[in-house]
Amino acid sequence: MLKSTADVAAMRPAGKFVGGVLSSLQEVARVGMTLQQLDDHAHRMIDAAGAHSVYLGYHPSFGAIPYPGVLCTSVNDAALHGLPSSYVLQDGDLLSIDFAAQVQGWVADSAITFQLGTTTPEAQRLIETTERALLAGITQAKVGGRMGDISAAIGDVGHRAGYGINTDFGGHGVGRKMHEDPHVPNDGRRRSGMKLQAGLVIAIEPWFMAGGDEYVIDPDGWTIRSADGSLAAHFEHTVALTADGPVVLTARG
Ligand code: MG
Repeated sequence: MLKSTADVAAMRPAGKFVGGVLSSLQEVARVGMTLQQLDDHAHRMIDAAGAHSVYLGYHPSFGAIPYPGVLCTSVNDAALHGLPSSYVLQDGDLLSIDFAAQVQGWVADSAITFQLGTTTPEAQRLIETTERALLAGITQAKVGGRMGDISAAIGDVGHRAGYGINTDFGGHGVGRKMHEDPHVPNDGRRRSGMKLQAGLVIAIEPWFMAGGDEYVIDPDGWTIRSADGSLAAHFEHTVALTADGPVVLTARG
């Protein structure tokens, strides 16, 4: 589970690539584009870089079909695992893009949320709060702390804003595979849970719903939506814990 200093250095190209693809997607995303066009854009970048998708063809037991794209594209009330489709982006849509890829044998995983076209205060507040929760979690990713410090920092930001937090899905270890131990819950108690050690590399990924904390899953087995139809947002970085503090491997230039 713990990575050496050399391993963490070797994970940097994956982190840089994943951050760069998300920046590029945010730049090209426009009202009138389909989710599939965004997926195609990311796929071309994967091919050009000689990287590998860790989503395409991924088929856990809960999925009705193998995962059909290289991105998760979740719009409005969709929070996680939205399938790239022929859906045409509308003015004011809230779009979360989650992207993970493997470069030189190492994986990085990151997500962003933004609004297309006309912005609304409700959506902007949700976006800003969810990103702030990610930063609060990263700040607690310190050697000598506990996993619960990260979880509580994330949960506090969400609770204070009055948002729904569901802990069925959360962050995870990242390494040669996308999902490794340990689990990184988006809510918890300070000074509880495993001790945080140097060499731990984790995806920290708050996702909040503007309404309640219940979700429903589409018949496709993948798309997770707020049960009350409220907006959802998701931010994620892959973070290495080092003696010198947390290093955000998927930082966007
Ligand atoms: Mg992810």
